[in-house]
Amino acid sequence: MTQPRLPERFRALRAVKDDAGFRAEFQQLTPADLPGGDTVVRVTHSSLNYKDGLAVTGRPGVLRSYPMTPGIDLAGTVVSDETGTYQPGAPVLLTGWGIGERQDGGYAEYARVRSEWLVPLPGGTGAEWAMSVGTAGFTAMLAVLSLEDHGLTPGSGEVLVTGAAGGVGSTAVALLAAAGHTVTASTGRREEEAYLRSLGAANVIGREELPGLKRPLEKERWAGVVDSVGGETLAGALASTRAHGSVAACGLAGGSALATTVFPFILRGVNLLGIDSVNCPTPRRRAAWERLARDLPADKLADVTQVRPLSDVPALAEEILAGRVRGRTVIDVS
Ligand code: NDP
Repeated sequence: MTQPRLPERFRALRAVKDDAGFRAEFQQLTPADLPGGDTVVRVTHSSLNYKDGLAVTGRPGVLRSYPMTPGIDLAGTVVSDETGTYQPGAPVLLTGWGIGERQDGGYAEYARVRSEWLVPLPGGTGAEWAMSVGTAGFTAMLAVLSLEDHGLTPGSGEVLVTGAAGGVGSTAVALLAAAGHTVTASTGRREEEAYLRSLGAANVIGREELPGLKRPLEKERWAGVVDSVGGETLAGALASTRAHGSVAACGLAGGSALATTVFPFILRGVNLLGIDSVNCPTPRRRAAWERLARDLPADKLADVTQVRPLSDVPALAEEILAGRVRGRTVIDVS
């Protein structure tokens, strides 16, 4: 087998900030441009997440320094690993740990990272599958695992997914349905109803049907919630969660503020569960990826996923921020 090797020049999408302001541009990099790390990966696929949209369009809060290669996810094959953990050619994936934020990420043909951040691709899967899951799907899996750890079982009752047509939401709907839960999908895009039902949603409701916090406690409805919206949506979901149910807070697509009361917590024992995909410990990470491989095989994700070339990322970044991207977008870097 020919071993992959690091070429003298390779392509990357770089976020640059200088006297002329911010721009994202394609550049040819050399190995000397890569950051420190013990392992080099030939990146074949990355993905597009909301956070990548923020980074590529120069919105504040994601990139910590410039120039930087965005892309919080990558998958490909190991070129070299100084720790000896991975052999050249080993198929791997990496999400989070600050790549595409504090250190160069997946929108380049090569990446230098830390071996301990890598996850071996689960058996029977490929790089394109891993990136169709990506941080968004991994986050959805962490949310479902967390709900289950806090007692959610298929007989518990209706489970709400907010921002359901987005990346985290779509995968959460599919994962919950695969585990036998009754899923109610909330979306601002009613035209996506058929799509959400095809993923396994039993009910689809409009975003406006979750009106935010009107009273500290509403009629008990949700046995569990996967929330990618935050803000008023999260406050309303907490007030409508059944006694001893749990709400997994994943995102802030609708706002980062949370104005609520303590009543759901002290009168109903509702659990508010924080979900962090970036620094998730390695054992949990590997368990989540194994479960994703089991419950979300490639054929289930095919309808949810579009594959686009690296050159499309600047335009796609605007689309995802405008809420016009459905499901998951894999970026072909090869
Ligand atoms: P997407 O853009 O794919 O999905 C977000 C969805 O939220 C949209 O599709 C839309 O769903 C809904 N939405 C958007 N704007 C609003 C609004 N103003 N009010 C109500 N709903 C809205 O993003 P991702 O799925 O990749 O990420 C979702 C969130 O999760 C983001 O905030 C992201 O930063 C966060 N996140 C957090 C992670 C973690 O580790 N905790 C990891 C990954 C993501 P619809 O059209 O169905 O209404």
